[in-house]
Amino acid sequence: MLTDKEIRHILDTDREHLWHPYTSAIDPLPVYPVRRAEGVTIELYDGTKLIDGMASWWACIHGYNHPVLNNAVMEQLKDMSHVMFGGFTHKPAVDLAERLLRILPQGLTRIFYCDSGSVAVEISMKMAVQYWQSSGQSSKTKFATVRSGYHGDTWRAMSVCDPVTGMHGLFGNALAPQFFADQPRSRFGGEWDNADLDSMKKILEEHHDQIAAVILEPVVQGAGGMWFYHPQYLNELSVLCKEYGILLIFDEIATGFGRTGEMFATFHTSVTPDIMTVGKGITGGYMSFAAAIATEYVARTISEGEAGVFMHGPTFMGNPLACSVSAASLDILASYDWQSKIHSIERQMKEEFAVAKKYKEVADVRVLGSIGVIETKTPVDVAKVQKLFVKEGIWVRPFGKNIYIMPPYIIGSGELSKLTHGILKVIREYYG
Ligand SMILES: *Cc1c(COP(=O)(O)O)cnc(C)c1O
Repeated sequence: MLTDKEIRHILDTDREHLWHPYTSAIDPLPVYPVRRAEGVTIELYDGTKLIDGMASWWACIHGYNHPVLNNAVMEQLKDMSHVMFGGFTHKPAVDLAERLLRILPQGLTRIFYCDSGSVAVEISMKMAVQYWQSSGQSSKTKFATVRSGYHGDTWRAMSVCDPVTGMHGLFGNALAPQFFADQPRSRFGGEWDNADLDSMKKILEEHHDQIAAVILEPVVQGAGGMWFYHPQYLNELSVLCKEYGILLIFDEIATGFGRTGEMFATFHTSVTPDIMTVGKGITGGYMSFAAAIATEYVARTISEGEAGVFMHGPTFMGNPLACSVSAASLDILASYDWQSKIHSIERQMKEEFAVAKKYKEVADVRVLGSIGVIETKTPVDVAKVQKLFVKEGIWVRPFGKNIYIMPPYIIGSGELSKLTHGILKVIREYYG
């Protein structure tokens, strides 16, 4: 344990010198110093124990400090933590590829390992542009997407994030202009309304000669709105894309590896995208790692072009530690009936959140797989509610009007109840 003085030093130095996600250097939001984490529990230095509702932003699917994942990292450390991927290959990279190929949608067979989700999105977009260059259609350099999406904070990724919440106003001309279709409004599990597709159809009709690909998050829109839409949108979109000669990129960085009740959200549809991105949960949340995965046809077409190669190569590509822990994480998934577990989390969240529909300040409640969302009518003050959540012994970090959880899959039903009941109590208190 640290002394009070040492803890104060951490907080003071942090406040003075460190950036946190989306915070001010003048008036930063409070942060809580974490001592350790294990299973679904995050422990602060003052001894406070928090049940984790966030899986550290979708990533820690098996919980913290997992003995199998710890062991994978430690064993790999003995051989090498890193070696360049230019000119070398290694067993961890191939082990992971074999495990991915077992679970990926059929036809996605060319895997590009990279460092983070945003980078995987950049790579997927670059692949699409190079694909059309190789096909002699170098005018196809733009992208279409739907509103309320989120694809990361780097430049090209940001250009396809929701234009309102995605900071387009702030960055203006610095962002590449893209095409934004209306957000699909037919709910997952509800009626399909064909009119959902109208605005995307119009964009593709009018601009297909400029559009390299449509990029979107399949079924679940994450950080751009926590919205679950009808899979039929994607089935119809896929037909349109083929008709107009446009590639389809599915960003599965949040949804991948079981989160929605299917291994990939794509499996709620009948579509195999041309390119798919994965990240976040791939390492079980142990470290930053991601991949952009293309069909053989896309990969070959790129390679037959003038450049002859795909023009990308990050320094830490295929990092052995990340590959080892990812392979171990997929082995854990393969070792138990994760799908039943996700379904039982889903059932319990549906039951326990149902009462919130009656709250005056709640606009909507939705649950899909192990993702539960309570949408409020007015935006919440994050710092203020965060404090209330910590007082309840739970870790929940809302944004805008969305109070949401996507806990580690290993959460027990008692722990999950603590989360859901804590959230309901805080909503009543906050608005009460
Ligand atoms: C988080 C996220 C990203 C960005 O990933 P980083 O690892 O934060 O760069 C991209 N797309 C989706 C759908 C995400 O949820």
